[in-house]
Amino acid sequence: MMVTLGSSRDAKLKVACGLNCRSCGCRHFWVVYTRRGWGGKLIRRRECRHCGKRMTTWEKPVGR
Ligand SMILES: [Zn+2]
Repeated sequence: MMVTLGSSRDAKLKVACGLNCRSCGCRHFWVVYTRRGWGGKLIRRRECRHCGKRMTTWEKPVGR
């Protein structure tokens, strides 16, 4: 398991910023699928890479 926290590599994971797994507390998730919801929201189904717990996140595009 990699725990590298390189700033440039980590940029890709910025989407998940502030999101922690409730079971194991890790911040690394696979995105199982992404779907466009109402109001331009993005619905993402994520799975914890560590313990496999799944959760749904809603992301709202900012700057519009
Ligand atoms: Zn977890």
